[in-house]
Amino acid sequence: ATPTALMVGTGRGAQLGILIKGPEVLENTRKADTIVLDKTGTVTTGEMTLLAVHVAEGTQSGTGEGAATGTATGQGGATEEEVLRLAGALENASEHPIAQAVAKGAAQRYGTLPVPEDFANVPGLGVQGVVEGHAVLAGREKLLQDWAIGLPAGLARAKEAAEQAGRTAIVVAWDGAARAVLEVADAVKPTSAEAVRRLRGLGLRPVLLTGDHRAVAETVAAEVGIAAEDVIAEVMPEDKVGVVKKLQDEGRSVAMVGDGVNDAAALAQADLGLAMGTGTDAAIEAGDLTLVRGDLRAAADAIRLSRKTLGTIK
Ligand code: ADP
Ligand code: MG
Repeated sequence: ATPTALMVGTGRGAQLGILIKGPEVLENTRKADTIVLDKTGTVTTGEMTLLAVHVAEGTQSGTGEGAATGTATGQGGATEEEVLRLAGALENASEHPIAQAVAKGAAQRYGTLPVPEDFANVPGLGVQGVVEGHAVLAGREKLLQDWAIGLPAGLARAKEAAEQAGRTAIVVAWDGAARAVLEVADAVKPTSAEAVRRLRGLGLRPVLLTGDHRAVAETVAAEVGIAAEDVIAEVMPEDKVGVVKKLQDEGRSVAMVGDGVNDAAALAQADLGLAMGTGTDAAIEAGDLTLVRGDLRAAADAIRLSRKTLGTIK
C-alpha cells in the first residue's frame, strides 16, 4: 500500500463523515459479503415515544381473569397513573432508549417521578427495582417469566396487538402480578432504506439483528427492504457476538453496524466493525470504522470508498 493513496482515501472518508482506524481495515471491506445491521439506534432513530398504556382489568382477590386462566400469581389491578409512576421511576434510572421514552411519557403525564431503590438493569430484558415499597419489573415478558409471573389474557392480547403493529410492548409488574402493557415505538431513519439498497448494490447481504420481538423486527425489516428470512430477532445482548461467529463459521465475511454497548463484542468479532458515531463510546472503541453522522448510507460509502482506495494502491 502506498501511503499517499491511503491518505487520499481516508481524507475523502473524513469529508464523508467516515473515520477509519488504520490501513489494515481496508482489506476487510473487499472481502465482506454479509452486513449485520443492529436495529435500534442503527436502522431506526432509537428515539422512542410512549404511545399507549393498557392497564390490566384485575381484581386483587384472585377471583378475576388471572385466577380463571390459572396464572401462578393471579392478577393485580392498577390505574394508569400507578403504572406510569412506578414503571417511569424505574426507567428513569436507565439510559436505554426504551427507558427514556417511558420515563419521559410518565413525567409528562404525572410530573416528578419517585426515586427507585435497589435499581438494576437487566440487559436485553428490562429493569427491576423497588419503588415506593413495591417490587417493580418492566421489560420483556421473559423478565416476568423469570420471576414466575404470568400475563393475564387481556394483557397478552394487548401485547400481541402492539407487536403485530410493529411496536415494542413492555410489560409492567409489581408485587408478583402483571399490571400493564406499554407500547413504545421509534421510527426507521429516512436514509436506512436507501442504505440497504446501496449495500446490496455492493454485493453485501444485509441481515437485521435485534433483541426486540420478531414481529417488531420484521416490520422494520420490511420498511427497509430486508426479507423476514434475514431477520435475527430476540437475541440476548451477549449472544449477538455468537450470531456473527455463526455467520463466519458458515464461511461468510461479516461486516457489522451497531451503536450500543450491547453491540461492542459483536463489532469486535466482525471482520469489519462499523460504529455509529451517534452511539456509545464502547461501540466506537470496538469498531474499525466510525460513521460520524449516524447515517447508515455512510456504511455503503465507507465500503465503496475503501474498495476504491484499495483499487488504486494495488
Ligand atoms: P436492540 O438489540 O434492538 O438494540 P436491546 O438488546 O437493548 O435492543 O433490548 C432488547 C429488548 O429488551 C427490547 O426490545 C425490550 O423489549 C427489552 N428491554 C431492554 N431494556 C429495556 C428497558 N430499560 N425497559 C423495558 N424494556 C427493555
Ligand atoms: Mg442498538
